[in-house]
Amino acid sequence: MANNSNNTSSSAQAANYTPIIPVTSLSTYLFCKRKLFLEKVLKIYVPVKEAAILGSIRHYCYEKINKIEETLVKSIHPGETLEQIESRYNAIYSNILKQTLIENKYNLKRFNLGLVDQHNKIFHLLKNESKIRTKNIFNFIKEKNIYGQGLWDNFTPKIQSEVNITSNTLGMRGIIDQVEIYPHTVIPVEFKTGKIPDTGIWPNHRIQVSAYMLLLEYYHNQPISKGYVYYLDTLDKRQIISNPFLKDEVLALRDKVIETITGKELPDFIDNKNKCNACDLKEKCHNKEFIDQRMQETLAAKILTTS
Ligand code: SF4
Repeated sequence: MANNSNNTSSSAQAANYTPIIPVTSLSTYLFCKRKLFLEKVLKIYVPVKEAAILGSIRHYCYEKINKIEETLVKSIHPGETLEQIESRYNAIYSNILKQTLIENKYNLKRFNLGLVDQHNKIFHLLKNESKIRTKNIFNFIKEKNIYGQGLWDNFTPKIQSEVNITSNTLGMRGIIDQVEIYPHTVIPVEFKTGKIPDTGIWPNHRIQVSAYMLLLEYYHNQPISKGYVYYLDTLDKRQIISNPFLKDEVLALRDKVIETITGKELPDFIDNKNKCNACDLKEKCHNKEFIDQRMQETLAAKILTTS
């Protein structure tokens, strides 16, 4: 375990070691067990892609938006109309996006992505966020007629971004995109980009959010009844209701992930050409010579650390 004393032998450390797995490994396992092994055991990675850069820009924007929320809410004054509040939010969100794009200009340049084009593409998401938030706050003010610090203290839900939770008991850790905080509960929200299912939620997204619900239950010591996946490209927020079967599914999957990443067996290829074609490790995965060499090096390193 992490707290072993210095004179504990390395083999004993290895025997006692229980990995705490990232929640994202559950999704990777569901996609392809071999991919999980390539990434986590053989440490094979691929260069960052354009979609990942744009995804992280969106994430940074939402993080900054949440940080500035208190100031914005407290600045609303009596008599301000919904349109005026929304217009102020939009102006600030636009500046946040511009600033974030400038901070990422070298990454964008690598993929020939222009600042103005990306601003226009991403801003419609932020405008939608602004519309939802300002409507919520406006209705709240109409009902309670409070402003300033009192408004902020009473307003719900408050939103936290990039919430980092580790549970030794569950053997899992994760960074939750957003957590909505209500007086008596919290709700995790995971942002996703890319293709959206016609109905429901992709299985790997469902498992990921369910794992976050479990982590939040552990952290807050209270049941969490639901979570959301927010498909950003279509602005579609889809709900997942917690149930005991889902929890068992997450824990069983966690055990399979641990078995895979602590094992020495390279899992076989999956029998799904569509997944392989979409897989960013496809080239390396099918390069037998490269994989054999990585396996040998990794096994040799494992033997050294456990002997
Ligand atoms: S190429 Fe196919 S078999 Fe290989 S890691 Fe990717 S999905 Fe799995």
